[in-house]
Amino acid sequence: MPATATPSSSFNLVRTYALVALVVFGLAGLSLAAVLDGWFEQNVLHLAGERNQALARLVGKELWEDFGATLREGADGVVDAAIRARMQRHIHALTEGTDITGIKVFDTRGRTLIASDEDAIGRIEEGNEEFRLALAGQPVNRFATRDLAYAEREGITGTRLVSSYLPLYGPDGRDVLGVVELHVDAGRLIEEGEATLANIVYAGLGIMLAAYAVLFLLVLRAQRVITAQQEEIIAQATRDHLTGLPDRGTFADNLEQAISRARRLGQQLGLLYIDLDEFKAVNDRYGHQAGDTLLRTVAHRMRGVVRDYNMLARIGGDEFALTVGSPADAVELDALAQRLGEEVGQPVEIGDQHIRITASIGIAVFPADGGDSESLVRAADTAMYRAKQGEGGSARFYNEQIDHRRHTTHELVQALEAALENEHFELYYQPKVDAATGSVVGAEALLRWRDGQRGLVSPAEFIPTLEESGLIVPVGEWVIREACRAQRRWRDAGIEVVPVAVNVSAQQFHQPGFAEGVGAIVDETGIDPRLLEIEMTESCLMEDVESNVMVLNALKEKGFRIAIDDFGTGYSSLSYLKKFPIDTLKIDRSFITDVHKRAETDNAAIVTAIMALSHSLRLSVVAEGVETAHELAYLHALGCRTIQGFLFSQPLEESEYEAMLRDSMILRRTMEAIREELAVGGA
Ligand code: C2E
Ligand code: MG
Ligand code: MG
Repeated sequence: MPATATPSSSFNLVRTYALVALVVFGLAGLSLAAVLDGWFEQNVLHLAGERNQALARLVGKELWEDFGATLREGADGVVDAAIRARMQRHIHALTEGTDITGIKVFDTRGRTLIASDEDAIGRIEEGNEEFRLALAGQPVNRFATRDLAYAEREGITGTRLVSSYLPLYGPDGRDVLGVVELHVDAGRLIEEGEATLANIVYAGLGIMLAAYAVLFLLVLRAQRVITAQQEEIIAQATRDHLTGLPDRGTFADNLEQAISRARRLGQQLGLLYIDLDEFKAVNDRYGHQAGDTLLRTVAHRMRGVVRDYNMLARIGGDEFALTVGSPADAVELDALAQRLGEEVGQPVEIGDQHIRITASIGIAVFPADGGDSESLVRAADTAMYRAKQGEGGSARFYNEQIDHRRHTTHELVQALEAALENEHFELYYQPKVDAATGSVVGAEALLRWRDGQRGLVSPAEFIPTLEESGLIVPVGEWVIREACRAQRRWRDAGIEVVPVAVNVSAQQFHQPGFAEGVGAIVDETGIDPRLLEIEMTESCLMEDVESNVMVLNALKEKGFRIAIDDFGTGYSSLSYLKKFPIDTLKIDRSFITDVHKRAETDNAAIVTAIMALSHSLRLSVVAEGVETAHELAYLHALGCRTIQGFLFSQPLEESEYEAMLRDSMILRRTMEAIREELAVGGA
C-alpha cells in the first residue's frame, strides 16, 4: 500500500505544533511581562513625581508666605533654630498622613536648610547633579533604592522609595527659591499596580491558552479530514469503478500479504474464484448497460455475505475473487460458496426484466493446494474451470477428495433432513438379558433409518453426518421422545415394562437445558422416569467433566438412570468416575470378544478389573456384544449378570421386541439352547 499520513503521524505533527506553540507563548508571556513592568515603573515614577511636584509647589507657597524673608536670608546664613523648628512643624503638618517619608529643603546654593533627618541640616548638595537640574527648573524623579550609595547614605532599605528633586518656586510661580527633595514611599502604589499587572498577564495568558486550545482542535480536525481524504483517494485509485470493489492489482497485493500472514501464523487461507456463467449472453441480449447493472447488483449482494476481514475483489469482467482468513474447515468454505452462489442466483431487475444468472466457484486452500499466491490462484482457477464443466451454478474444491466427500455429505444431509421431516427414522430395541435366568431386564433403543433407495441404514453410516450438520440435536430429541412413547404404548397394552436406554451424543448433551428438555418429554408422555436410561459414551463424559457433572446431577435428580457406554475405551480416571452420579457401566464389545480365551487377549484381565471397580463403586455392569455361549459362561463366572448381544438377540423392530416382552418363553428357549451347547462343549 502506498505511504499515507497515518493517524499517528498526524498526531505527532500536532504534538510538535503544540510544543512549539507553548514555547512561543511562554516567551511572549515573559517579554510581555517585562515590557509591562518597565512601563509600569515609569508610570509609578511619573505619578509619584507629579504628586511630589504639586506638594513642592504647596510647600514653596506656604514657606514663602511664612518664611520668605528667612529663606532669602538663609541663603546667606544659617536659619535661626527657633524659625527652623517652626518650619519643621509646618512641613510636618503638610506631609502628615501622606506617603512622604522624608523631606529636605535646599537653598539656591545647595545648603540643607530643613530636613526631616536633623543630621543632614547644613550639608551642602551643590555638586549633586539632580540638585542642579532642579535648580535650573527641571524636576527629577527616580527610584531611590536603585542608587545604592544614596540609599545607604539615607538609610533607605526595603521600601521602594521615589525620590524627587524639585524646584522650589516662590509665590509668583517663577522665581526659584531653592530645591525641595521629597522621598515618597511608592510601595502601596507599586503593590496595587503589580496586582493589576499580574491579573492582566494571567488574563492574557488565559486568553492565549484558550485560543491555542481552539487552534489545536482545529488543526487536529483538519488533519483527520486530510487523512481521510488521502485514504479515500488511494481507495478510489485501487478500486474498480463499476462495483466499488478492490481491483485486480489490489487483490494481488492483498493475497500476497494474506499468504505470508497465514504462513507466519501456521494458518490456512481459503481462496474462492467466482465466475459468472453466460455473462456475455446477458451483454449481447440486454446491452452493456444492463450488464453493468447486473455486475453491480451481484457484487453488492456478494459483499453482503462476506465478512469484513475477507477481501472480495473484482478481478476481471465477470470474475470475482475472495480470500477467507483461517477457515475452520472445508465445510465453512463450502457453505460460503453456497451462499455466494445463492446470492448471485437471485433474479436481478433490469427495466421490466428479471434476469437470472449463475456462478461457477472454484475453491483452493493454502497451503494444501498451493504454497504461494501463483499456485494458489492457479488451483482456484482450475477448480473454477471444473465447476464450469459441470452443471451451472456449482462450486468445486481443487482437492478432488474433498470435493467428492462434500458432494456425498451434501446429499446425505439433505436426505437426513427429509427423513426427520417424513418420519423415516425408526427405533430398534436390543434386549438386555439376565445371564442366570434369561429374562429381559431392559433394552437399548438403537436408531435406524429406513430410506426408499438405501433400505435400512445403520447408524454408523449417518450418525457422523448428523453430528457434523448439527441434525443430531433434533434427531436425538426424536429418539428420546419415541422411546418414551413406545414405553407408554407397551404400558397401555398391559405389558410389564423394563427400562429402555437411549444413546445421547455429546452435542445433544451439551445443549443448554438438556436435562429440562428430557424431563419435559417424560412428563408429556407420562412415563416413569426410572424407565428411561441415558447412555453417554465414556469419551464424551471426559470431554468437559465439570459441566457434565452438573447436567448428570440434574438428570439424576429427575429420576433418570445413567449409563456409561463403551466403557474401557475412553481413559476415564477413577477420581472422575466417582464424581459422576452413574448407575451402570457398559463394557465395550472389544473387551468381550473372546474374553474366555485368556491366552490370546488381555480381555479377561480387563473385564476382571472392571468388575472389581464396579463392585467397589456399587455400579451395575452390562457386557455388550456377547456373541458366544463361552463368552457368556465366562462373564457369568466373573460375576457379570447383565448381557447384551447377538447371542440372545439382534436389535429388534418394535413389534418383535414387544412380542419378546409379552412372551418370556422366547428367551428361555434360547437360554436352554445355550446351556445345552455349553454342556456339549464342556463334555
Ligand atoms: P452402541 O451404543 O455401543 O450400541 C451398540 C451397538 O453394538 C449397536 O450397533 C448394536 O447393534 C451392536 N451390537 C449389539 N450386540 C452386538 C453383538 O453381539 N455383536 C456385534 N458385532 N454388534 C453388536 P448399532 O445399532 O449399529 O449402533 C452403533 C452405534 O451407533 C451405537 O453404539 C451408538 O453409539 C450409535 N447410536 C445408535 N443409535 C443411536 C442414537 O439414537 N443416538 C446416538 N447418538 N447414537 C446412536
Ligand atoms: Mg449404546
Ligand atoms: Mg456401546
